[in-house]
Amino acid sequence: MRLSFSAEDLRVERGNTAELELKGELAPIDLQRSMLAFAGPVTFSGTASNVGRHIVVSGTARADALLTCDRCLEEYSVPLSAELLETFCRVDEVTDRDADDEDLRRYGADDIIDLREPIEQAFVLQLPMKLLCSEGCRGLCPRCGANLNKGVCECPPQDDWGLGHLLKDL
Ligand SMILES: [Zn+2]
Ligand SMILES: [Zn+2]
Repeated sequence: MRLSFSAEDLRVERGNTAELELKGELAPIDLQRSMLAFAGPVTFSGTASNVGRHIVVSGTARADALLTCDRCLEEYSVPLSAELLETFCRVDEVTDRDADDEDLRRYGADDIIDLREPIEQAFVLQLPMKLLCSEGCRGLCPRCGANLNKGVCECPPQDDWGLGHLLKDL
């Protein structure tokens, strides 16, 4: 199983539509400061339609994501779901007008439309600015590095920390 399909039959006639139920593995995605990994296969369920020279794909991609909490650095799992609406043009049929369209994606002369890249991009856009294992994550003690979700550490109360308490919410 993979996150791609053949558009060969769709291409035969304008108006052709196909149901898509795809499933496949996605490699971990580098988010710069951390990684987005997947606990299992990614699924895509939707449709593909021939709208005249282009194929439009719409549907929903789902996966169980593994992320690293920005505050306590523990790995956590969260279900991800992203809507896709993508237009594809075969690489040898790109017109001048198509070439100006930055949103238009290409597929090869083998008629295989690969959804991995659009799914990856849609997932990354779904992620919040701050990745937190839970809203109330207490993070790490800035002094001893203890994970405060697992209990209080031995450090003196926060009032004595001076700058420490100003930094804790960063
Ligand atoms: Zn956390
Ligand atoms: Zn501490």
